[in-house]
Amino acid sequence: MRKFGLKCGLLAGAAVLALAGFEYGPALAGSSGTAASHGQAAASAVANQTAAKASGDTAHGQSGASGGSHWGYQGNAGPANWGRMSKDYHLCADGTEQSPIDMAGSFDGATLSGIEFDYRLSPVEFTNNGHTVQVNYAPGSAITVRGERFELLQFHFHTPSEHAIAGRQAPMEVHLVHKSAKGALAVVGIMIEEGAENLALSEFWSLMPRQAGETKQDRRTLINARDLLPVGQGYYRYMGSLTTPPCSEGVHWHVMSEPVTASAEQIKQIAAVIGANARPVQPTGQRLVLAPMDSH
Ligand SMILES: [Zn+2]
Repeated sequence: MRKFGLKCGLLAGAAVLALAGFEYGPALAGSSGTAASHGQAAASAVANQTAAKASGDTAHGQSGASGGSHWGYQGNAGPANWGRMSKDYHLCADGTEQSPIDMAGSFDGATLSGIEFDYRLSPVEFTNNGHTVQVNYAPGSAITVRGERFELLQFHFHTPSEHAIAGRQAPMEVHLVHKSAKGALAVVGIMIEEGAENLALSEFWSLMPRQAGETKQDRRTLINARDLLPVGQGYYRYMGSLTTPPCSEGVHWHVMSEPVTASAEQIKQIAAVIGANARPVQPTGQRLVLAPMDSH
């Protein structure tokens, strides 16, 4: 997996700011360029949120300092208080389609069209935004779901998993964040169970940025996000939100029903850097959660 490299653009920029938070942004601060493509769609709130994280966090180091809201996962800064920390975060408290959720109670037997993965090689740009560690992906990779194309911006990690399947969380979850030309976000979540070493992670694990605000790059090492995917392509689909402030809704979620594995050592290494960064599951409410035929 070492080959050519594209320059990954980032979304930095004002537009993005709004996004704040989190991990859904492409985040690469610092780069220039791609804001347009990755970014902003200013019109889209979701988009904005996404970006924010990226830019805000990265630029300021940790704590999402961009808006003066120092959200986190512990104590007063934790998820239970996000909605009160800023007007911009109100959906974290009063949104009705929030993420993550437990897939229990999902609608079985739906015939879900497959996700068409078109992932290409990307050089590694691994950044620590104070809330997670994230690999910013070079432009040109995408998924197509129900005829709509969403470009892969970045992927990042949560320990433990944020989503639950039948009440059970995994030790880790990776979120691959994509955005359409219209600014809609689509995230693919993959549960990571403890087991065999994950060879895809091992390709860039040594570049783990340990400090908030730190970014490590290796343009000679090329990775392919396809290597993170499970063999089985079944997935749960529902409409949700960013799992970090500002908790914007309208995010198309696809949680793969089959997990992949990582070694205990790999999980320990990332947990030591990012700590516990999983928002608790949120009420499913009236939402329809579609489950793959083979999920049970
Ligand atoms: Zn995430």
